[in-house]
Amino acid sequence: MASISTDVLIIGTGPAGSAMAALLSSYGIENLAVNRYRWLANTPRAHITNQRTMEVLRDLGEEVEAEAYLHATAQALMGNNIFCTSLAGEELGRLPTWGTHPLSKAAHLLASPCVMNDLPQTFMEPLLFKTACSRGTQARMSTEYLHHTQDADGVTTTLRDRLSGAEFTVRSRYLIGADGGNSLVAEHAQLPFAGSMGVGGSMNILFKADLSRYVAHRPSVLYWVLQPGSNVGGIGMGLVRMIRPWNEWLIVWGYDITQGEPQVDEAFALKVVRDLVGVPDLPVELQSVSTWTVNNQYATRMSNGRVFCMGDATHRHPPSNGLGSNTSIQDAFNLAWKLSLVLKGQADPALLETYNAERAPIAKQIVTRANQSIEEFGPIFKALGLLDSVDPVTMQHNMDARCEATPAAEAQREAIRQAIAFKVYEFDAHGVEMNQRYQSSAVVNDGSAEPAFTRDRELHYQATTFPGARLPHVWLYTAQGRKASTLDLCGKGRFTLFTGIGGEAWVAAANAVAAECGVALTVHVIGPRCEWQDYSGDWARAREITDSGALLVRPDQHVAWRAGAVMSDAAHQLRAAMRSILGK
Ligand SMILES: Cc1cc2nc3c(=O)[nH]c(=O)nc-3n(C[C@H](O)[C@H](O)[C@H](O)COP(=O)(O)OP(=O)(O)OC[C@H]3O[C@@H](n4cnc5c(N)ncnc54)[C@H](O)[C@@H]3O)c2cc1C
Repeated sequence: MASISTDVLIIGTGPAGSAMAALLSSYGIENLAVNRYRWLANTPRAHITNQRTMEVLRDLGEEVEAEAYLHATAQALMGNNIFCTSLAGEELGRLPTWGTHPLSKAAHLLASPCVMNDLPQTFMEPLLFKTACSRGTQARMSTEYLHHTQDADGVTTTLRDRLSGAEFTVRSRYLIGADGGNSLVAEHAQLPFAGSMGVGGSMNILFKADLSRYVAHRPSVLYWVLQPGSNVGGIGMGLVRMIRPWNEWLIVWGYDITQGEPQVDEAFALKVVRDLVGVPDLPVELQSVSTWTVNNQYATRMSNGRVFCMGDATHRHPPSNGLGSNTSIQDAFNLAWKLSLVLKGQADPALLETYNAERAPIAKQIVTRANQSIEEFGPIFKALGLLDSVDPVTMQHNMDARCEATPAAEAQREAIRQAIAFKVYEFDAHGVEMNQRYQSSAVVNDGSAEPAFTRDRELHYQATTFPGARLPHVWLYTAQGRKASTLDLCGKGRFTLFTGIGGEAWVAAANAVAAECGVALTVHVIGPRCEWQDYSGDWARAREITDSGALLVRPDQHVAWRAGAVMSDAAHQLRAAMRSILGK
């Protein structure tokens, strides 16, 4: 007999586990979340928080979104990625990033009601965890997952209370492995992985120092410092990352993984800090040093029976593009509503299989992109002449050569400009962040062809209502002046149907199908003198259906199904779509 029973046991309270707990509790699902440590993240690892993640927080509630902005460094200060020889030294070039270039800013404003920001993990985790616990999650800290077994009805998990050493069991209908990059749950569930771990070594040096005079005039989150001869392979590229402007910082510095994990003492850490800042006697308050490895691995299946893994447990990659915590939270948004419907008996367990079909391709995509982004520093090194020699004097000479008045130097200057500009694929890849489209049985194709991407799909978000895509955001208004995003009108654990004038049959159909299937389905009618006004015409341009058509949107704001115009058998059509999604 298990000591405790619950519907969903979540291992890990990082961004994935806490988001999952918060969403399940918001949907009224009983859950227990455990963490082997006594508290949440103690270092500010993840920070870049993209618009899609902010949409998940907004879906959790206005107060959750507002609190994130309260603690975050605003987008405007995320500004220019700087390439320099030290913070106090020469600047080699810069790239407007994270939606701060005017063109990118416009694309961001058009894409979402939410704003990208820099929210350190030390703020994101407590926010999600607090939301979860305040809405019903039972949480146990200092509690370690040991192993699990599953049968046809549920999962029995053995945990250890790290304070008393006592082991106990939890019986749950489902088990979530959100236990990070060294996931034991994924290992025990025998999830298949592609790629490899430990392809590079890095250390984080956390410190406090007032660096305003070197950075405040060129605000950024990331300052890349290139110092010939200072590290592995002759190229010392260190990252000085802003944690709080402009007195709290984290340096990311590589080490040669073939030589094993280095012992980093205070003197070494201080030297790295002062070298990269470029001020030998800089007053520094050293806070912590930790090491981590660069990984290149993803699960090709994210579940086994009643065990579902998410976050770094299933995608293990470097911080490039800032995708880790974002994707972890978005995994939870994909699975939580499905689990909720299945546990409430409203959907067949087959719906859960769509988590694999929809999220495993994303895991592969982001791991590949993040690792590719590391490779794409190569052209910058090459253009600066840092790959032609390992002799620091020659390397410095090659860098200096770009200042000469020769055709070769002019070509070098152009190569440097192009190589830095190409890093937009890491630092302003709006499409990577927003273009996720799903294909699975939880999406019903309407027979139309998927719209091809007209611009680079990694760089540019392209809105569409093609089934499987995230519902496009546009602002709508009530006659009384209330303003809401289309995304505000859906989500929150329920299905939503959008229609317009002439689509009255869909309203009746939606009410009938919701009652039959026992699911929550909200209807919004958009048009003159209707519930919602499309004064700007933005909705008419975005919806890709006629006034009388219908869009069925899933609880995670992805389009489930659409009809171009009203149909004589509207109820039949909608019923078929809904049953297919619910696996009934
Ligand atoms: C330097 C750096 C910068 C980064 N920058 C970004 C960024 O800008 N944007 C971004 O999105 N991501 C970034 N990341 C990645 C991000 O930190 C991770 O992707 C994210 O933390 C993954 O969340 P998770 O919940 O899956 O796992 P984790 O955050 O690793 O959480 C795992 C949880 O499981 C618990 N746990 C583990 N094993 C057990 C066990 N046996 N029993 C009980 N509990 C257990 C842990 O205590 C923890 O609570 C960065 C990472 C680094 C190192």
